[in-house]
Amino acid sequence: MATWQCVKQCGACCQLDPGDRPDLATYLTPEQLGEYLSMVGPDGWCIHFDSLNRDCTIYEDRPTFCRVTADTFGQMFGIEPQDLNAFAIDCCRQQIEAIYGDRSLESLRFEQAIGLEIG
Ligand code: SF4
Ligand code: SF4
Repeated sequence: MATWQCVKQCGACCQLDPGDRPDLATYLTPEQLGEYLSMVGPDGWCIHFDSLNRDCTIYEDRPTFCRVTADTFGQMFGIEPQDLNAFAIDCCRQQIEAIYGDRSLESLRFEQAIGLEIG
C-alpha cells in the first residue's frame, strides 16, 4: 500500500497559476483565495518558492491550504481522514505530471518515495 509523502526538491504544487486551477473559489474561502492570489508571481510560481533549491522559504508559516493534513483537506475538499492518503497521492501525481511530466525524474522520485516503484 502506498503511503503519501512529500518529496524534497519537487515543488510542483507551488506552481500556482490560477489559469490551471479554475476551481479555486470552490474550495478556498474568500480570504484564502485572496491570500492565494497574492502569492502568485508573474511566472505563476509562488513568490515564496525558491526555484533554485525548490524549497518553500516560509515553510513553517505557509498558509493552511499548503498543508496536507486531514483537517485542511477535509475543509477544502470534504474528504474523510481515511481518504486523505489516496487523495493526496492523486493530487501530487496530477501536479507533478502537469509540471514535470509523467516520465520525469520528479515523478519517479515520488513513486519511489510513496513505495510504488521498485528502484
Ligand atoms: S507536488 Fe507533492 S511531492 Fe511535490 S512538493 Fe507538492 S506536496 Fe510535495
Ligand atoms: S507558500 Fe510555500 S508551500 Fe505554499 S505554494 Fe508557496 S512555496 Fe509552496
